[in-house]
Amino acid sequence: MKISEFIKENVKLDTYSTIGIGGTARFFVEPRDVEQLRQVLRFSKENEVPFFVLGGGSNTLFPDTVYNGIVIRMAKFNKVRIRGEECVVSAGFLLPRLIFLLQQESLSGLEELFEIPGTVGGAIYMNAGSFGREIGETVQSVKILTYDGDLITLSGQELNFSYRHSDLSRFGILLEVSLKLKKSSSYKILRVMEKVRRKRRETQPVGERTLGSAFKNPEGKSAGLLLDKAGLRGYSYGGAKFSEKHANFIVNFKNASQEDVLYLLKLGKEKVKEKFGEELEEEIIILKGGAHG
Ligand SMILES: Cc1cc2nc3c(=O)[nH]c(=O)nc-3n(C[C@H](O)[C@H](O)[C@H](O)COP(=O)(O)OP(=O)(O)OC[C@H]3O[C@@H](n4cnc5c(N)ncnc54)[C@H](O)[C@@H]3O)c2cc1C
Repeated sequence: MKISEFIKENVKLDTYSTIGIGGTARFFVEPRDVEQLRQVLRFSKENEVPFFVLGGGSNTLFPDTVYNGIVIRMAKFNKVRIRGEECVVSAGFLLPRLIFLLQQESLSGLEELFEIPGTVGGAIYMNAGSFGREIGETVQSVKILTYDGDLITLSGQELNFSYRHSDLSRFGILLEVSLKLKKSSSYKILRVMEKVRRKRRETQPVGERTLGSAFKNPEGKSAGLLLDKAGLRGYSYGGAKFSEKHANFIVNFKNASQEDVLYLLKLGKEKVKEKFGEELEEEIIILKGGAHG
């Protein structure tokens, strides 16, 4: 199939991000397999248009205008197989769905990450984690398509996982990952998932349009608490605000724009620096629009 048959133009982006913000992508594609993904990378190189790899969009803030490049959505890479304590899962598979599946198979290792939205690919890129666990701890190896179109396999260690970070983007696009889990009792796993769900409902604006934590926690501190003490809990600008329930969650409560969120991010950084001398760093991924993507 030629690329012209599966690439789309001028696609609206707001529904592809959990915060519901976004203009359009000049090009948008959902490759079905590695060959199509290779074609997209070639198209990008030959036409000198940038690309952005999209998982579930639960950590991505799109521009208000046009992203002048190709958004590559990985949703069609969605296979999973389990053998003993190993699970091999494709990048576009949804993380909450995977955690349910592992619970049914009595496999422990990711249950603390229950209710983190998005895909396996996004979780590996971000080294997603919660309640003391990170996905990187379970990674045995990853299969990647390099930006030049070669298939490589790396060990988990080679991705250098650290707090909300991996080196994935140095190498290419994640295709699939092999996870090492541990046999446990499905009942015990379910209990942890229920506890996690309860805690999230108590402390986070569940069900609202957000990207989760806006900033990373500075070492030994809570970004939410710092923002709260800086007086920003509930503070709004345009259609966006720091949630009343958790000050580190910025929510879109009324047709917010990227500009509104950027304003709040800047304000949050300034106030926290001024009051506590602490430098906050964004956890969310910001995609800029404009002539050069
Ligand atoms: C309500 C809510 C709660 C949240 N709670 C948590 C939490 O407790 N802990 C936590 O860590 N996060 C949390 N998040 C943030 C977010 O869900 C995670 O970071 C998630 O892992 C992102 O996955 P995604 O597929 O949606 O990524 P996207 O937003 O689609 O992408 C994120 C980054 O990953 C890259 N990427 C995605 N797929 C690939 C791929 N296949 N190959 C290469 N790069 C790729 C993208 O280019 C982008 O840079 C929360 C978000 C929300 C909305």
